[in-house]
Amino acid sequence: MAEDTQADCLFCRIIAGEIPSDKVYDDAQVYAFRDINPGAPTHVLIVPKRHIRDVTAPEAADGALLLALLRAANTIAQQEGVAESGYRLVWNVGPDAGQSVLHLHLHLLGGRPMAWPPG
Ligand code: 5GP
Ligand code: ZN
Repeated sequence: MAEDTQADCLFCRIIAGEIPSDKVYDDAQVYAFRDINPGAPTHVLIVPKRHIRDVTAPEAADGALLLALLRAANTIAQQEGVAESGYRLVWNVGPDAGQSVLHLHLHLLGGRPMAWPPG
């Protein structure tokens, strides 16, 4: 495994292909795949290929990387047919938000109307 990945990280293992995933997008910096437990008809996880713990990690301040994640989100919204109907982008940070995987990931949720504020 490359040194910017962690052997014990679920998402690093998914990116490396050691754990199967339903890929929806892949480029030099970003990988995206369907959430195993979808909260909406479209629920995609968009992750940097480098292991970055979460949005509070210093590496997460890399503007180029954040832009790559957002550009991927735009492309995926088009691909999934939710760009016009609308979708939600979510970072869960810490226990109250229910963050469960410590590898930075952006959720893209769409395909149905969503309540605001979320439950
Ligand atoms: P978090 O709760 O940390 O913001 O989001 C982690 C997400 O990863 C959850 O929505 C969960 O359903 C998803 N997830 C956990 N394990 C797997 C897995 O093995 N494969 C896929 N595709 N998604 C997973
Ligand atoms: Zn990782």
